[in-house]
Amino acid sequence: MLTLQEQRDLREKVALDEISVSIAKDIYWKDLKDGTRSWQTQDWKQRRETFLKDKCEICNGSGILTIQHLSHPRKYNDYENEITRKYISELTDSTFIIQKSIFLDHIIKNYDYSPVPLCPKCQSRKPNKRVKKELKFLCTKCHFEFNETTSLSAEKLVDIFYEKKDSIEIKNKCFVSKDKWKNQHNLKEIHYWLLRTGTKASNFAKIEKEAFLLYLDENIKYIEFDDTITACKKCASNYDLKNIELCPNCKLFYKGTQYPTCIQCLPEDKRKSALEKVEFGKQMNEMHKNLGID
Ligand SMILES: [Zn+2]
Ligand SMILES: [Zn+2]
Ligand SMILES: [Zn+2]
Repeated sequence: MLTLQEQRDLREKVALDEISVSIAKDIYWKDLKDGTRSWQTQDWKQRRETFLKDKCEICNGSGILTIQHLSHPRKYNDYENEITRKYISELTDSTFIIQKSIFLDHIIKNYDYSPVPLCPKCQSRKPNKRVKKELKFLCTKCHFEFNETTSLSAEKLVDIFYEKKDSIEIKNKCFVSKDKWKNQHNLKEIHYWLLRTGTKASNFAKIEKEAFLLYLDENIKYIEFDDTITACKKCASNYDLKNIELCPNCKLFYKGTQYPTCIQCLPEDKRKSALEKVEFGKQMNEMHKNLGID
């Protein structure tokens, strides 16, 4: 695993295009596959010692102390998706970048269309189907009775969509993908996915570089012990560390987001009893319930 300085250097090289993203990925992920805690390099262990405070930042106790991360880097693919979404949102929503004919070809090639049945007289949607009557359908809008419903062609639907993106006619997910997933999509969704594929293909190098830099930033912050606190083992197991924040009163100790202040800022009698409860390793919510400050 790369040391902190090596990771910073690698990030710099990627940013300056001195190294390709795919080579950088190989270097970065090379020894991540063995499943060991490979970020615990010698340099990590040394820096950990300097970051570890001598008291728990939740209860002020000095039991067995560990560094707790309040946030974690996401998977690389999450960053790639995030940057791709950014590129798509930069395209103006009202403009149809995809030519209508290309869009229609894409639909015909990749989707089966099962149209919404309509009344042949007034084009109202979903006429009532009847079981015993001679004429199978009754339109609830114009009261016309008939045997055969009509429907809009895919071409007509696409026309409507290109005229008005939010028309009621195009809301139904009446297109089923021909692949093994058999996804049900409406035209808006198909348009989005086609736009996404195109955006990703034509900006792939930029997206990949931005995403990998972001990913490296977050991982570097992680091994720099950014967004961490020192907590004793009892507090670490008592608290959901994702829901912890600095006490607004003293801005010194941490507290669960559901509580008004940290333990230190409670009135003397409640503080003592809260600390005892932490000592016994009881759940914090139980403690607060008993103290009546829930
Ligand atoms: Zn503690
Ligand atoms: Zn009708
Ligand atoms: Zn406080």
